[in-house]
Amino acid sequence: MPPSFPTEYQKIIERLESINPVHYARSRNNIDGAVTHISPYLTHGVVSLPYVRDSVLKKYSVKESYTFIFELAWREFFQRVYTEEQDRIFKDLKSPQTGVRRYGVPKAFVDATTGIIAIDTAYASLYTTGYMHNHARMWQAMLATNVGHYSWWDVSRYMFYYLVDGDKASNTLSWQWVAGTFSSKQYVANQEMINKFSPVRQNNTYLDVDTSLLTVLDPKELEEGVPFTLTTDFELFKSTGTLDMLSGDSYMLYSIWTLDPTWNPVNTPATKVLFIDRDELTMFPVSPARIAFICALSKNIPSIHIVVGTLDELKEWSIGKSVYRKSHPALERWPGVVSSPEYLFPEIAHVPRGFMSYWKKCEAYLYL
Ligand SMILES: Cc1cc2nc3c(=O)[nH]c(=O)nc-3n(C[C@H](O)[C@H](O)[C@H](O)COP(=O)(O)OP(=O)(O)OC[C@H]3O[C@@H](n4cnc5c(N)ncnc54)[C@H](O)[C@@H]3O)c2cc1C
Repeated sequence: MPPSFPTEYQKIIERLESINPVHYARSRNNIDGAVTHISPYLTHGVVSLPYVRDSVLKKYSVKESYTFIFELAWREFFQRVYTEEQDRIFKDLKSPQTGVRRYGVPKAFVDATTGIIAIDTAYASLYTTGYMHNHARMWQAMLATNVGHYSWWDVSRYMFYYLVDGDKASNTLSWQWVAGTFSSKQYVANQEMINKFSPVRQNNTYLDVDTSLLTVLDPKELEEGVPFTLTTDFELFKSTGTLDMLSGDSYMLYSIWTLDPTWNPVNTPATKVLFIDRDELTMFPVSPARIAFICALSKNIPSIHIVVGTLDELKEWSIGKSVYRKSHPALERWPGVVSSPEYLFPEIAHVPRGFMSYWKKCEAYLYL
């Protein structure tokens, strides 16, 4: 069954309540394993990481939930690195990408014709569902960067455009992790490793070689690149007016990253505004399907207005007004009184630049 993503709040909560961390731990690495499909809700801030963890811990022990919490911590790690590094994450973070020969997007991704069935199937499904399994994300990223020698930047934004869970921190930093610019080495997988986790077994492909040879391959299937030309169709947000048309004593400012229907920072009625940052979605374009998903999620927040504008317009409009917003690393320059960030491990003040060092610190608080 292809994954689907309901947008009604009650259905989202039901999805969380059906998570079985034991089945998850056993099979999450398989393309057809029991993954949760909750990333679009975490990305858009409908639910927080601690909320998800606590809903699982109501039914399962920490021991049973260990792998699941470990994976949630990856998301927290990326968000916190983004908070600390800000726009520096959009450039090679730890070391320069090696062996770059191409820019843009492999045409074989656009047409889903790389010749590697697991990857072509994953791209075909991305185009129809907006979702790709974590392992397939790793394989296609290594194929583009370490085998096809493309710079990670355009091709990562290409995938982001289609993802229903496209997240600036998780996507960018995962691509950088695979490409070796935010890790100690490039990630590679040969056909044998792909076959192990994929329902389709394939032999005699260009990836059917020893892993040590993968970065020196230059397969003809990946030679042709196309420029990155995707754009966001802002009209599809069906803006309800401009900022100046809003009225009220106080304002609750929502972003595409903070669509939490339960957030309530003020006790009195406030005007609710979902502000679409034109500059952000110009740099990181999103598909019409993603826009429809965001607009549908915003319907969980009664009487919300949708306004498209620039950050400068937002800042100018906010002067002298009581404006509240949730915390998110993408919103550091937004105006407003900010709610405290919701972390799994708020005790950790400084985030090391490697996930396993971060996780070691987290583990100290896991069983408290
Ligand atoms: C190249 C690449 C790009 C990626 N881009 C995104 C992205 O744009 N948005 C996004 O949310 N995730 C991204 N990921 C991380 C991961 O693939 C997805 O979070 C996961 O596949 C979402 O499906 P799920 O909710 O069924 O995950 P599950 O396996 O069920 O995991 C539950 C939750 O844990 C978190 N999680 C699990 N694995 C990871 C991981 N490796 N890194 C970070 N968080 C994780 C996610 O929030 C996920 O929703 C990317 C990974 C790679 C390798």
